[in-house]
Amino acid sequence: MRPTGKLHLGNYMGALANWVKLEKSGQYECYFFVADWHALTTDYADPSRIKLNTLDVALDWLAAGLDPEKSTIFIQSHVLQHAELNLLLGMMTPLGWLERVPTYKEQQENLSTKDLTNFGFLGYPVLMASDILLYQAQFVPVGQDQSAHVELTRETARRFNSMYKTAVFPEPDALFTPSPKLTGTDGRKMSKSYGNTIGLTEATPSVAAKIASMSTNGQRLRQTDPGDPDLCPVGDLHKVFSAPEVIEATRTGCRTASLRCEFCKAEATKSVCSVTGPIYDKRMQLESNIEQTWEMLRAQSIKAAARAEETMREVRDVFDLSHELGFVKQYFQAKAQIWLHNLESHFFDQNWEHRPEAEQKKSIRTSWIQLVKRDAHLKFEANRSFDSVEREIEEPAITPKGKRVFVDSNRIYPAKSLDQVWHFAIPQKSFEVWVLLNLNENRETKLLAGDSYVIPQRYFSQPFAKAKKSLRKDEKIPVSLRKDGDRFLLSIHGSEPVDVTALRGNYEPLQ
Ligand code: SF4
Repeated sequence: MRPTGKLHLGNYMGALANWVKLEKSGQYECYFFVADWHALTTDYADPSRIKLNTLDVALDWLAAGLDPEKSTIFIQSHVLQHAELNLLLGMMTPLGWLERVPTYKEQQENLSTKDLTNFGFLGYPVLMASDILLYQAQFVPVGQDQSAHVELTRETARRFNSMYKTAVFPEPDALFTPSPKLTGTDGRKMSKSYGNTIGLTEATPSVAAKIASMSTNGQRLRQTDPGDPDLCPVGDLHKVFSAPEVIEATRTGCRTASLRCEFCKAEATKSVCSVTGPIYDKRMQLESNIEQTWEMLRAQSIKAAARAEETMREVRDVFDLSHELGFVKQYFQAKAQIWLHNLESHFFDQNWEHRPEAEQKKSIRTSWIQLVKRDAHLKFEANRSFDSVEREIEEPAITPKGKRVFVDSNRIYPAKSLDQVWHFAIPQKSFEVWVLLNLNENRETKLLAGDSYVIPQRYFSQPFAKAKKSLRKDEKIPVSLRKDGDRFLLSIHGSEPVDVTALRGNYEPLQ
């Protein structure tokens, strides 16, 4: 319910009385909240009464019998998950759905004194859907006029569940509230904007005065004329608030002109006040200790937030925004383990130095291909996209020009100095890409971590060509990779070092 201030009899009969019944039935676990954010969708220009109105509404609820021991009664803006879900559902809600909501145009026309061309007002049905779906609600107790909103909520739940192949949100059903016709003092629908309301917690003399001056809708202009109580707003009040015998007596008296309107109205006042009197008394009692109600609302908001958070964990997980590291942690752990395993199996092999060179090459090459495949597999797990992975596995080490990558590393050993250096030698062939693999010891943890580089030709072509000229044809070109702080510098046969830090772990050229 929006915080529009103290409730009137129309609000009471149209919603609140039914909520109290639902709660009392014990059939449902109920959540009732004051929708202060919704109020701002239309009252954003003057928010000065939001808190006061919020308390007025909550006090009327409690006075009318809602019980925080049985239901969760809270303030929407105190449960930030409403806003978070609103934002996330907003991502997947088509604009057309919002523009088609019947109340969107109606309200813009009815509230013509306010500028309702704002984003918040257009999106309020998404906020409403969030309010409902956040508690994975099965039912929403609403009047018929709200059925379009519940339908949009159902569509949102369906779209979310099918788009993300999940079942986070049940589709809620409307639990239509029987809302008896209750006209205002001037014969029109009871509404604050018409100034024709009778307050739920209005003092008896004020209620009596309002009913006494109530329009009879043209009935019994002369008291000697018979009237039709079905056409008179006072007749409506009797139908809703009076005991059956009083209804019967006043109807007969009206039809036969044997009951004067003022007596009929006095009876209606008695009937209304027999319902609203105890509510008024309770409200006065609650108002004497407003902090207690405010603290209750805050505590209940925390309770609601805990329930809302359960849903949000599922929703964040769906959008891959989970606060847990989860799969990502496994991804990096697996990556580190496989990488180390691959390297260790080669470089910590006691016989490695004595193996034939061809065998060493083959071993490193196999390791590289496995590495790329594993990387592709992990990418698949992360992206859940199969096509690109298939391609990567089929073509594990292919350059953009379709050539296979040469992988060789016949001497790699870090120097035991503060700045590590890896030395190795490369044959004088022409290569598009170098793939360098090395082991890097973390100085603090003493753990080995794998480093890999995919270095395109433009990084090494000039010093490489220069080295070729200065060496014999059968000599390999000495290369070193030096760690300088956080940077990695590649030096070819004594040439100026090239910074290849950014190329570390970068497999992209192989795609
Ligand atoms: S008797 Fe009562 S119901 Fe009939 S017209 Fe008068 S006020 Fe209305």
